[in-house]
Amino acid sequence: MNDLIIDFSELMGKKVTCPKECGMCCLCQPEVLPEERNFFRMNHSSSLVRNRQPHDHFALALKKGRGSCVFLNNERRCTVYQNRPTYCRQFPFHFHVSDRIKAELDLSCRGVWYNKGNDAILEAKELADRSGSRLRAALREATAVYKEFFSLCKEAGVHEDQNVLRSSVSKNIDKFSDLGYIAKVMNMSLEEASVSLDDVAAEATIDMDELNEAAREAALGSMQSSDPLNVPVYCDGKWNWNLFMAGKNGIEWNVLDDNGDLHFKGSADPNEISLPVLDTGAKEILKNYVSILNGRDSMLGSAYHTMDSLDYEDDMTNVYYGSLSVAIIDLMWRSAMLDKFMQFGDGENTMREAIIFYDMDRLDAPTIGAFV
Ligand code: SF4
Ligand code: SF4
Repeated sequence: MNDLIIDFSELMGKKVTCPKECGMCCLCQPEVLPEERNFFRMNHSSSLVRNRQPHDHFALALKKGRGSCVFLNNERRCTVYQNRPTYCRQFPFHFHVSDRIKAELDLSCRGVWYNKGNDAILEAKELADRSGSRLRAALREATAVYKEFFSLCKEAGVHEDQNVLRSSVSKNIDKFSDLGYIAKVMNMSLEEASVSLDDVAAEATIDMDELNEAAREAALGSMQSSDPLNVPVYCDGKWNWNLFMAGKNGIEWNVLDDNGDLHFKGSADPNEISLPVLDTGAKEILKNYVSILNGRDSMLGSAYHTMDSLDYEDDMTNVYYGSLSVAIIDLMWRSAMLDKFMQFGDGENTMREAIIFYDMDRLDAPTIGAFV
């Protein structure tokens, strides 16, 4: 393991705990690695399912095909804890592999917000040790992909050094909670050849209809499914598993129970939800989160993925600043949506809950490289 260099900076000073009431991460089907299959084949063969997407693999079955993992009991404890798959052990840590490895922490896990429990870096190091050979193989593959990606960017004249990108955002981070500034960055990244953040002045007049529409479109993207398995889960402070599904009748809010049944809680018209004006507390929480996003390789990888899909026609600065701005308005819009359904009242609290709701989607965005 000593030969693998991993960047653990996102985990610095963080602690993780797992409150017994939660169980949220048991709502996704964990992949079962080939070396882990035997235990389930021998002891629980009917609980092993084969999935073809996003790649051919085996995973654990869900209650009624849509609830929690079949091994989660009614006290939200894992009944195969000693033999749980690697992916279960790893949560809330993710190892993003590009031309290097970066440990990232899933802020949708409520257990990372208490600042108590195990030291996050020590825990992640132990997990990385267990996955050494998979990380090494993924690094070999992703390094080749990144080499090709950077050479295509240079050839197209759209390349920028990632340290320059990140430091320009860090320098202007306070401005990213100002809707006028975000609107201007978004517009300029579409219109100008290459944006310099230092030169951006906030829009004097914001077209709120246009900005709300962009935010709504970004936020509803992952909620547009009638299959509860495909929409993000928001575990609230009372440990309810909330699902929001967007369809032609608006946004439907359901709570999923431990047996895999849905309970209708309400609905809302997305056109009646608007980007909020943030108070000082909310701005501070947002600023810290943007700083985390700006440090994540998966955020850069997701901008790189967009560049690839746009055939290297757009400058890297524009795509990165544009992606970050869309992520921020997506999060802000979700904070307004959660507040409409749940009335948190307090801006700081609402922003924190919105991050808990949003971060699993953020980490799930397509990226160049891979999560191991
Ligand atoms: S989401 Fe976090 S707190 Fe909840 S069960 Fe998973 S690891 Fe524990
Ligand atoms: S195996 Fe255990 S830890 Fe993993 S998803 Fe199922 S219940 Fe949760």
